[in-house]
Amino acid sequence: MECDKLLSIDFSKAFASGGCPICRLLRKVEVEHIFSMLYENVNDPVTRIKLRKSLGLCPFHAWLLVEVVFSSPEIHPMSPSIIYEDIIGEAINAVENGSTPTIQSRCPVCSIVDEFEEIYIEGFAACAESPGFLVEYESSNSVLCLKHYEKVIKRVSKETMKKLRRIQVKKLRRLRELMRSFIDKQDYRSSEKATEEEALAWVAAIEALKGYKTSVAMSRCGGGKPRSSRFLRRGSR
Ligand SMILES: [Zn+2]
Ligand SMILES: [Zn+2]
Repeated sequence: MECDKLLSIDFSKAFASGGCPICRLLRKVEVEHIFSMLYENVNDPVTRIKLRKSLGLCPFHAWLLVEVVFSSPEIHPMSPSIIYEDIIGEAINAVENGSTPTIQSRCPVCSIVDEFEEIYIEGFAACAESPGFLVEYESSNSVLCLKHYEKVIKRVSKETMKKLRRIQVKKLRRLRELMRSFIDKQDYRSSEKATEEEALAWVAAIEALKGYKTSVAMSRCGGGKPRSSRFLRRGSR
């Protein structure tokens, strides 16, 4: 994949907003896709068939849809009503027949986000090889989340990987410094007032560790066994 101009403009904008640039671009994809689904595709037969098969959007995107409707004056509540009136009909039929509706296909927004995640990971890796891109990234407040950092470094040259590792460590250290400074300034002997950046560094740390609120970051807990199974084993002794 080439680092094309449009892609590097997208990344420049993402750098300006801080956070993980890939997660932030994916969040934009999710919100824009849901917006256009509600704004112009409510009566599109293909969209409606897909939504019927997936029983609407997944929980994450369905609740994001609620946020989009409530925060967009351009979207009339008629749009989600038309979509969900249709889908709840499917549920009524199934329950009447003594079952519950089966989900036959994936949430359409999840599928789009997965495709774009691949494009942005590949794009970041391609752009990282071109001069100037990493300089811009390094000087911004952006920090690749650990998941996206790991995926990007697997696709770059050895030299770029070393540069990215150095930048990542520097950015994570900076977050730690900001939090330390904030903690120190809470001491009653400290006369210095904490900055807003220091006060909010813990939020940036969460994003750097776990990613921004997108379906790709929110769908997996990762690591460890589920607690319930340990409790069950203990209870059965
Ligand atoms: Zn990310
Ligand atoms: Zn989804």
